[in-house]
This record gives sequence, structure tokens and C-alpha cells, in this order.
Amino acid sequence: MALGEFDIIRRYFSDIVAADEDIICGVGDDAAVIAIDAERALVVAADTCVIGVHFPLQTPAYAIGFKSLAVNLSDMAAMGVQPRWCTLALNLPPQYRQADWLAEFQRGFATLAKQHAVSLIGGDTCGADQLSVTVQIIGIARSDQIVYRSGAKPGDAIYVSGELGTAAFALRRLQAEADLPDTVLDSLYQPQPQVTTGQSLAGKVHAMIDISDGLLADLQHILNASGVGAIIDAEAIPANPLLRQQLGEAELWQCLLAGGDDYQLCFTTDLPEAELGTAVHKIGEITADKGLQITKKDGTQLTPTEYGYQHF
Ligand code: ADP
Ligand code: MG
Repeated sequence: MALGEFDIIRRYFSDIVAADEDIICGVGDDAAVIAIDAERALVVAADTCVIGVHFPLQTPAYAIGFKSLAVNLSDMAAMGVQPRWCTLALNLPPQYRQADWLAEFQRGFATLAKQHAVSLIGGDTCGADQLSVTVQIIGIARSDQIVYRSGAKPGDAIYVSGELGTAAFALRRLQAEADLPDTVLDSLYQPQPQVTTGQSLAGKVHAMIDISDGLLADLQHILNASGVGAIIDAEAIPANPLLRQQLGEAELWQCLLAGGDDYQLCFTTDLPEAELGTAVHKIGEITADKGLQITKKDGTQLTPTEYGYQHF
């Protein structure tokens, strides 16, 4: 049987480490952190996007360019760090080595890079059977401002930075060839990484992650890294009203709890909401008990296994 993603990482790639005191954080968080000096650290992450895996085949070139950088900026946001530089490795089949496609890809990538003042400083370009785009992102931060997955404490409130499930909803509509508003399509094709929010929360929150795989899967990474559990109030999860109007109950919960590709932030803190200084949504609480419970106002519990949790 093929091994799962996290099994592979844990079994084969977590241990290739020299005796190196400058590694503050290696494999296992949204980015690695390497000490530069007593005050500052380099923060590095890489993400690959593969056509047919991360993008439906019909995805426009602009969206592929935009999103391949966005997912990396999102990992910097999750550490509370300002991204500065990136590298770009392209595997291009012949049909993508065309001026029209490349100009649109470049426009998507450059638009987002400009928005966040990120410079492209290197990379690699080669032929391949399948389109894949790997971006490595690098930032510098004060070491004491960097936020990890591992700091959540019992009693912390759990927040998300914005609406969840919209990208998963858009993908369903696309696959069903149904109409959908541009704003909803944008959440799939042009997700806005929460870099400013992430940085403004640095120093105020105990643990943070970006929601790339789905709320439950990503929150579980915080819970595992912190040795805690959580109770989520399902009805407190912010959603685009269209989802509540157009989805049945089971599909709605699946999009909100397990829909990937949102790139909002999920974080925990003991500060009052008013002191966070940015608009956020409280969705639950960290518990000493290690389980993850999802409750509704009527007191019933949602069972994650019924809602796509097993896909992770
Ligand atoms: P994210 O979803 O935040 O991009 P991933 O789930 O892709 O993070 O990866 C989880 C962790 O495993 C990260 O710390 C990442 O750097 C690390 N990782 C993933 N693949 C590899 C690999 N092949 N070798 C070493 N580390 C890896
Ligand atoms: Mg991440």
C-alpha cells in the first residue's frame, strides 16, 4: 500500500539533520527557522503545485501563477513573517512553453509578488511530462516574533481569520459545470494570503497555522504539536452566505470543516479579542483533553469521519 504524505515525511525525511545549533525549527511547521544572529532568523518554506492534483486541468494560466506564489506566502503568514524573496522551479510540458500561457502565468505570479514586495531571485526551468510549479519562499524576522504550531495552551480561544469553505464550494461548482459568481471563483483561483494579518498577530498569539488542507486537518497539526485538544463550535465558523443557501447540511459541514485551499489563518490565544487588533472569528477553545470535538448549538456533535476527515 502506498504510504501517506505525513508517514513519508516522518519516516524518511525528518532525520537528515547535522548537529547544528542554528536550526531553531526544522521539519514539521509551516516553515523552517534558522538563526542568523541572536535576534534574527531566516524563515524558509517550499510548496509544489501540480496540474491535475492542486489545479483542475482547465485552470487559467494567470491563476496558476498567482496561486503557486499565494500558497507559499500563506506559509509565511502562518509564521507571522514578512516574505521577502522567492525562487521558482518550473517543469513545463511543451504545451505550456508557449508565449500566451507563459505571459499570463507571469502576470499572475508578478501581480501577487508586487502586492507583497516579494522578489524572484532564482529558480530552475526544465521540460517534463506534467506541469508542476515549485516555489521556495524566504523571509527574515525577529526570532521572538515567530509563531509556531506548538504553543497552544488549554483555555486559549481558537480563531480563524476569515470565511472558510468557499474554495471547496467553488471547486464543486466548477466540477458540476454550474455557474458561480466571480468573487467565489476568485477564492479558488486567487486566494489572498493573510500576510498582513499574520504579522499583526505575531507576539499576540500562542500558535498559528494556515488552512491549506481543511480546518480539521490543519487545526489537528496545532493540537498534535501542542499536546492539547479542542472543542469547535461548528456554527461559529464564518461562511459565505451562498454556501448556506446552496449546500445541503452534510455538504456545508464538509466544505467548512474539511474543505481545503482557503488560506485563512487559524490561531490560538489567551488575549481578549479586542486586543488582537484585526477582524477575526472565534470558533472554539483549546482543551487539556486531547480529543477534537465539533459541537452544534443544539448540543449535538458532528463526527468528523463522516465529513471527509479520512481523506487526510
Ligand atoms: P504545509 O501544508 O504548511 O505546506 P506540509 O504539510 O506540506 O506543510 O509539510 C509539513 C512539514 O513537512 C513541513 O515542515 C515541510 O517543510 C515538511 N516536508 C514536507 N515534505 C518534505 C520533504 N520531502 N523533506 C523534508 N521535509 C518535508
Ligand atoms: Mg502551511
